Amino acid sequence: MPRGMFKSGRLRKIFVKTPGGVTHIHYRQRKPSKAICSVCKKPLAGVPREMPATLRNMPKTAKRPERPYGGVLCSTCMRVMFQQKARGESA
Ligand SMILES: [Zn+2]
Repeated sequence: MPRGMFKSGRLRKIFVKTPGGVTHIHYRQRKPSKAICSVCKKPLAGVPREMPATLRNMPKTAKRPERPYGGVLCSTCMRVMFQQKARGESA
């Protein structure tokens, strides 16, 4: 029986088959949840779902789209927001 800390479901299980044919369970930290649009709550494209240590070693341009509000709004919501701004409507 696994130890208590491995039974809570906090860590994800990796099933590793050893050369002897026995399957062992390794435990790894879960990845953070997907980044979502702040208006429509859709998952954002072009934003990696990685651990903070991995993100630290990635270039900034690989972490979010290179456009205004990239990594905050999805492309549809960004276009709608700019249209409303140009028309002088309050968002
Ligand atoms: Zn959106």
